[in-house]
Amino acid sequence: MARLTDVPVNVLNLERFAELLQPEAYARFSRAVDAASTLFEGRVIWNVNSTPKGGGVAEMLRSLLAYVRGAGVDARWIVVSGDDPFFALTKRIHNHLHGSPGDGGDLGAAERAVYEDTLAGNGEELAQRVERGDIVVLHDPQTAGLVPIAKDAGAHVVWRCHVGVDAPNDRVRGAWDFLQKDVAQADLLIFSRAQFIWDGLERARVAIIPPSIDAFSAKNQDIDARNITGILVRAGILADGDVDPEKRVFLREDGTPGRVDRSIEAFDDQPDPVPPGAKIVTQVSRWDRLKDPAGVMKGFTDHVAPATTAHLVVAGPSVAAVADDPEGLSVLQECHAAWKSLPADLKERVHLVCLPMEDGEENAAIVNALQRRADVVVQKSIAEGFGLTVAEAMWKARPVVASRTGGIQDQIEHGVSGHLLDDPANLKAYGAAVVSLLQDEDRAAAMGAAAKDRIRTGFLATRHLGQYIDLFGPLLD
Ligand code: UDP
Repeated sequence: MARLTDVPVNVLNLERFAELLQPEAYARFSRAVDAASTLFEGRVIWNVNSTPKGGGVAEMLRSLLAYVRGAGVDARWIVVSGDDPFFALTKRIHNHLHGSPGDGGDLGAAERAVYEDTLAGNGEELAQRVERGDIVVLHDPQTAGLVPIAKDAGAHVVWRCHVGVDAPNDRVRGAWDFLQKDVAQADLLIFSRAQFIWDGLERARVAIIPPSIDAFSAKNQDIDARNITGILVRAGILADGDVDPEKRVFLREDGTPGRVDRSIEAFDDQPDPVPPGAKIVTQVSRWDRLKDPAGVMKGFTDHVAPATTAHLVVAGPSVAAVADDPEGLSVLQECHAAWKSLPADLKERVHLVCLPMEDGEENAAIVNALQRRADVVVQKSIAEGFGLTVAEAMWKARPVVASRTGGIQDQIEHGVSGHLLDDPANLKAYGAAVVSLLQDEDRAAAMGAAAKDRIRTGFLATRHLGQYIDLFGPLLD
């Protein structure tokens, strides 16, 4: 049975960035891309992670690799397979790397055996595919154990870690110890911010690359107000009368038109959709305790609802769909139980929605419409690697209220391009920040405009690709 699954990658033309960048920046970018197509000729750049959809890494690989292919470089994406115990373990490692106990289990010898067994099978297949001189980019803890195998196959090996904490505790160090002997063998290690670099790694082999978003994807492309409404009404999130079937469209990555046809997976007791014209506060994320969806609800019902007429939409993927996230269902159930205990008037104003995942671009179009329609976007994470949802909302010129944690701090300049919460557990402060932005539309608009600029200059795919080219070139020497 094949262990590795190929994820199809499109080819995207890089010329589209000419409309977003200053001419000089675009010219510089084009020169780097031309050099890259020569440099990587005849080599494959393999990217390996653990899921083709759901979560930030899959989101980023999809478009970034398509641009790399657009530059004439043979970039490919493969996904490892594993059983439930493997993904329960890697989720635990993920949680520990964030300093959180996760399911409370250990990272000892028995767990190491589970980890190595699963990756040995995947690695055997990887070694058959990789040629000497190829580049293998392994993403996150799920694939770190493949570093020695890819090295033995003669590849240049990069391990990229998308998670981390600013102040590591013993639990974090325990997770480093679990992975260190594999990770230390990589030729290059990439972290999203300097604070995330592990102790004991050779600094000369470590680089920092913050993630980026694709301004043209179904998630982030411009859509007009009628399509925003049409998509949200069709999805069952917004109530707004008849929907013209033409007015819920988006452009797929391959250039063909797409249309939102599916709706949210409703609970039996789902409240009515958000009424037309209502202000919306939203958080979009996986159903993960570290994203604190229950706290987002409690802060809203205690501190935002009494002072406004806004509605809260807490949105995440259909839990059946995200294979590497075993906690999703229980987190969603906890949120639903909390919702059930609300008084009737608040139940009408808090909407837990599971977005359809059958078609990733349709899902993305719904997220796009929801973020664009929102008056305030929240990301009240307890810990965060980077927080792509923050960049996505900022690109849409939304005022964002988000925790001062991980890469969120690199994106938002407090008070200018968003609002940072010093303590995500302080629900009163979170509520006050949201209320003030709901009430002061001018300030919200100015913050949104600054946010968009911030993403344009620092967090688009062009910056990211340029950094890849700069780092991978010397690796080949
Ligand atoms: N996302 C999505 N559909 C959903 C929920 C989340 O497309 O139903 C996306 C979200 O828009 C973002 C990514 O998943 O692009 C989450 O990335 P982030 O860095 O915020 O968090 P992670 O999941 O990697 O911890």
